[in-house]
Amino acid sequence: MAQDLTGQAIAITGASSGIGEATALACARAGASVALAARRADRVQALAQRIEQEGGRAVALPTDVTDERQARAFVEHAYEAFGRLDGLVNNAGVMLLGAVTGADTAQWRRMIDVNVLGLLYCTHAAIPVMQRNADPAGGHIVNVSSTAGRNASLGAAVYNLTKFGVCGFSEALRQEVLHHGIRVTVVEPGFTESELLDHNTDPMVQAGAAHRRQEIGKVLESEDVAAAIVYALEQPAHVSVNEILVRPTGQR
Ligand code: NDP
Repeated sequence: MAQDLTGQAIAITGASSGIGEATALACARAGASVALAARRADRVQALAQRIEQEGGRAVALPTDVTDERQARAFVEHAYEAFGRLDGLVNNAGVMLLGAVTGADTAQWRRMIDVNVLGLLYCTHAAIPVMQRNADPAGGHIVNVSSTAGRNASLGAAVYNLTKFGVCGFSEALRQEVLHHGIRVTVVEPGFTESELLDHNTDPMVQAGAAHRRQEIGKVLESEDVAAAIVYALEQPAHVSVNEILVRPTGQR
């Protein structure tokens, strides 16, 4: 039977907007203490304040996850704030769409730095920290991939590369850390209302996204994805939800 998250400490990256913000609120409302990472300090501080006002516990830890030292410090400070670390939600991500031919390669580096290396740095830091947990022992790493981690599509090649990578990494990691009582879940959302598309300035990309959105009809809200993440986190220690694919009903 599912439990609530009372007594648990959960660190969430990309908590300044969209899915990360909704996940932080949902975890806090389920009883967890939450540590919030993102670069926009004002946003994570305001969210921490909101959670505290609602009676929850939250700490804002402005972090750029692409900087390994900052990623490590985020995980350590989350542990220090709450005296344990039960969950890490690797949610920070960027999606910069476009053709491979003639691409601005700085955009590739940005996606690989955030979606892949940022997730790896936080995970690498969190595993030994989670092993410090006693009563209960163990931990849970939730990696946010995408439907783009299962289906490749024209114009998303490098984003696909990062999200397919997150799926493969998550399964290999699951097999590695299960002996420590650490669970791994990969979550693959479909089209979700958020700021994710806002970083794309190419009018062709924007038009393509607008068309896709129209085809789908009602897209997911960030809260819909947050609910899937909390579902995985709330399972008792012997239940490991390994993968959740959640799409808007109208998405092909
Ligand atoms: P948002 O753009 O709303 O959120 C992205 C978050 O990532 C922000 O909080 C941003 O914070 C953070 N972030 C970006 N770069 C960094 C960095 N270097 N260090 C720390 N944090 C960073 O988009 P979503 O909520 O939609 O995206 C969340 C995740 O969900 C991403 O991994 C995305 O790929 C995935 N996803 C989204 C889908 C969608 O349709 N929206 C579908 C499938 C998956 P800040 O800028 O303050 O640093």
